[in-house]
Amino acid sequence: MKNTFSFELQKTDGAARTGVIRTPRGEVRTPAFMPVGTAATVKAMMPESVAETGADILLGNTYHLMLRPTAERIDRLGGLHRFMNWDRPILTDSGGFQVMSLSGLRKLTEDGVTFKSHIDGSKHVLSPETSMEIQRLLGSDIVMCFDECPALPADKSRIADSMRLSMRWADRSRAAFGDRPGHALFGIQQGGLEEDLRAESAEALQQIGFEGYAVGGLAVGEGQEAMFGCLDFAPGQLPVDKPRYLMGVGKPDDIVGAVKRGIDMMDCVLPSRSGRTGQVFTRHGVVNIKNARHADDPRPLDDTCRCPACRNYSRAYLHHVFRSQEMISGMLLTWHNLTYFQDIMQGMRAAIAAGTFDAWEADFHAGRAAGDIEPL
Ligand SMILES: [Zn+2]
Repeated sequence: MKNTFSFELQKTDGAARTGVIRTPRGEVRTPAFMPVGTAATVKAMMPESVAETGADILLGNTYHLMLRPTAERIDRLGGLHRFMNWDRPILTDSGGFQVMSLSGLRKLTEDGVTFKSHIDGSKHVLSPETSMEIQRLLGSDIVMCFDECPALPADKSRIADSMRLSMRWADRSRAAFGDRPGHALFGIQQGGLEEDLRAESAEALQQIGFEGYAVGGLAVGEGQEAMFGCLDFAPGQLPVDKPRYLMGVGKPDDIVGAVKRGIDMMDCVLPSRSGRTGQVFTRHGVVNIKNARHADDPRPLDDTCRCPACRNYSRAYLHHVFRSQEMISGMLLTWHNLTYFQDIMQGMRAAIAAGTFDAWEADFHAGRAAGDIEPL
């Protein structure tokens, strides 16, 4: 395969888009959902099983990996792909978001962020330059610019100052990334919910030039209506011919609404995290497997689902192993949730290609509105 990174936009239906990202490690069909492999594992899943669900690409967390086992150790062991036995594309975040949400005692300056590890209290520095170096050592295929994401709500001048700092950091990230054929650097649009700030940010990023663009700073507590309001204009401010990535989203209806508004890539811990807490996503909405109604139910979670949890086990079994805190519970429910999320993506890709996205979306919402099958 050629040692290049490219994006081909194949079809649009309204604002929704389908296409393919090509990397030396394989293709990513868009719109794409990326399962999150925080600590070099998608929790409770073997990597080959993650691939079987239909995932073309995983997300790795720079913040977690730099602290443990460290980027230097992963590099010595052959890079993140080899270390975790995933040979397909990997996207890594910049570490910035989790420094803000997880670490203690931070100090933010023009240069970067100094912080203490949430694991052992050790002191670290993340800056555009160190984030690029860590992501290079990890060997990720898609590298994210180091940015700052203010919590919402915040006043407009605070959001503007933060966005302009992130644009200066984007410029430094581009310079530090260097020339790495086959690897991509994505810029991150900021600006909160403000259309003019989002436009200024998009313009600044395009002046620098990136292989893809993320819509950052959403899914931070603003709610779905406000997020969709922002997505009505934010993706359209970014280049048509480059992938657009919405970071940290989301629930199934968030994902569908984002694709409808022109987003190509997303990631979220929700399907894997929920799998471990007994929350199951189905085409008929959310099912809580711990509910007593499932205890004697011999039927599958979803009789149309292709995953092992639905093909080989009853609701009664899934209920039992969850209540018994058996490890297979998290394994099966995560496998189901990831399969369901990938089936949504596949359904949207096919519908966009066929020009039937509106009908697909109506069917998606009708299935959820109908609710779970009646108890026996
Ligand atoms: Zn299933």
